[in-house]
Amino acid sequence: MTTPNSQTILDLHRPGATSALFHSVGPASAPQAPAFTHRRKVIGLPEVAEVDVVRHYTRLSQESHGVDNGPYPLGSCTMKYNPKRHDALAQERGFAAAHPHQPETALGGVWELYERLQAMICEVTGMDACSLVPAAGAHGELAGLLMIRAHFRHAGARRPVVLVPDSAHGTNPASAAMAGFECRIVPSDLRGRVDLAELRAMLTPDVAAFMLTNPSTLGLFEDQIVEIADLVHANGSLLYYDGANLNALMGVVRPGDMGFDVVHVNVHKTFSTPHGGGGPGAGPVAVKRALAAHLPGPVAQRVEGVACPLVPGPQSIGRMKSFHGHVAVLLRAYGYLRTMGAAGLREASMHAVLNANYLQHRLAHILPPVYRQFCKHETLLSGEKLNTSARQFAKRLIDYGIHPPTLVGAGCVYFPGDLKSAMLIEPTETETKASLDYQVGIFQKVFDEDATDEALVGSAPLSRKIARIDLNN
Ligand SMILES: *Cc1c(COP(=O)(O)O)cnc(C)c1O
Repeated sequence: MTTPNSQTILDLHRPGATSALFHSVGPASAPQAPAFTHRRKVIGLPEVAEVDVVRHYTRLSQESHGVDNGPYPLGSCTMKYNPKRHDALAQERGFAAAHPHQPETALGGVWELYERLQAMICEVTGMDACSLVPAAGAHGELAGLLMIRAHFRHAGARRPVVLVPDSAHGTNPASAAMAGFECRIVPSDLRGRVDLAELRAMLTPDVAAFMLTNPSTLGLFEDQIVEIADLVHANGSLLYYDGANLNALMGVVRPGDMGFDVVHVNVHKTFSTPHGGGGPGAGPVAVKRALAAHLPGPVAQRVEGVACPLVPGPQSIGRMKSFHGHVAVLLRAYGYLRTMGAAGLREASMHAVLNANYLQHRLAHILPPVYRQFCKHETLLSGEKLNTSARQFAKRLIDYGIHPPTLVGAGCVYFPGDLKSAMLIEPTETETKASLDYQVGIFQKVFDEDATDEALVGSAPLSRKIARIDLNN
């Protein structure tokens, strides 16, 4: 464990220090820039030797944990490894050097990319039409809900309510509220699934949509999804699929076939785009034919074999994003989908589910699963056997190079039942068996520490510059 160095670049200032390359370039030999560009006063930039600049920023880059540093079993986030070849693809000059103000006719490659990727996302989700432009999962949710609102407005119906299960990701009720809906929470039953009797009672004529994630954020598949879809549709309402995380079901089952009408997907989770730290990502939204006219633009189409932009109709919800959305992010997703192929996607999901069940099984004696059954791509483990809390336990993992899992329970996210302390673990398919076994070993080690040395776990992490940003946590 090294002692963290807390120097800033300003602390490294040494008058006269400079780069190896430019030390001989004084004012006399410098090319003459026009006078109006000359600086009028000294602005106090730090003078630092080039090698120290490189060391400083390399050190900083190593102080934050990423999937390239170690395991990152952060539930609901799908922190899988992102093959570097997709970064190279995103740096292709034709895309990287394109200017958003180029005339549409000079952006043929972008339209080609969009048309192909739209079709792939429709294929994976079982939908008919797609717009790639929303900038993140929550943005895709907002787009989907605005489309649902437009759908009912054009039909002359007043439906101001959206239903959300109590296990939903926090963005679901937030997006519903932002789109102008009143949000009502549907409780889960003892199996962690949507309580059908409650749902039936809550499906009143003012309900526009029911938002669902399947498998849910508890890692459980809603096995009554066909009944749920029938109930929702019989009420004249629409079914929204939060597909932020498709990692459990690619090539196995499709939201469209389960009866969903609108879906957003996070390419920065499922389709192997780097994420964390706030972006950028992309949250394409896909719909059944009946809703296609409401998609946000720009949408690509193919006319006589040539990909080009579709002129948005009057029922489109309009633009969600300047220019074309996050082209480089979508390019990475395209690279991933092409390299995996249909069989590869299915295999990835199979392994994601296998890995989660392997961890659930190997950890059951110290962190028992909250719902004692097979999980999908993630598993909810209870901290009931811990001396301290799941939060304390997770903090100690940082000292062993493992990112803490998602914490759920008191003070974190609203959670069904009286669960006090639990964590949601999602290993993803890209971790090897050796890595999973290493993680099991570390979890065991921290569990043993927790039993004998509560203080050690209580003050963790010990190896980081900042242990707790929020001192109450
Ligand atoms: C991550 C996630 C979201 C939100 O996606 P962002 O890209 O962070 O906005 C929504 N729902 C679920 C289930 C998620 O896991």
